[in-house]
Amino acid sequence: MSRPHIPEKLKRRVLIEAGHRCAIPKCRYPHVVIHHIIPWAKCKEHKYKNLIALCPNCHARADKGEIDRKSLRIYKVNLSYAHDKFSRLEVDILFILYKEPGSSSLQFPSFMMILINRILDAEYIDVKRPQSSVEISGMNMSPVYLFLTNKGREYIDSLETDQRN
Ligand SMILES: [Zn+2]
Repeated sequence: MSRPHIPEKLKRRVLIEAGHRCAIPKCRYPHVVIHHIIPWAKCKEHKYKNLIALCPNCHARADKGEIDRKSLRIYKVNLSYAHDKFSRLEVDILFILYKEPGSSSLQFPSFMMILINRILDAEYIDVKRPQSSVEISGMNMSPVYLFLTNKGREYIDSLETDQRN
């Protein structure tokens, strides 16, 4: 079976995931190739979960097993938390709400809402504000309640799937 090209759309997704740089954190070399975590010879398919952008040097080291598959998978999962997406705090909030059953919410101080702006913009969480607010020196001290939206749940689901495969 001859090896088909990786579809452009899939290739772009893998490159964007790594910011068009080697996915190995301290390397980050700008010239990259698409590496199959489980070798092509074995899997005979191009699947997003199995692809990672590596520089030619790290690619060769991965082929030799100097960088093993488990490490590559961890590097890949880490990419989904990195690169100007969400802060660690935002990801933590999503995971806390995800793990709690059903209608649970998380209290969060109003005046710190700016720290979770990106998960709000992405509509991954809903906010319920109290009817009356308490202000101290012009700062809103009332807590708001955060809820995970369906969109947020789907996002975490997609991360969890990436980790499993
Ligand atoms: Zn590299």
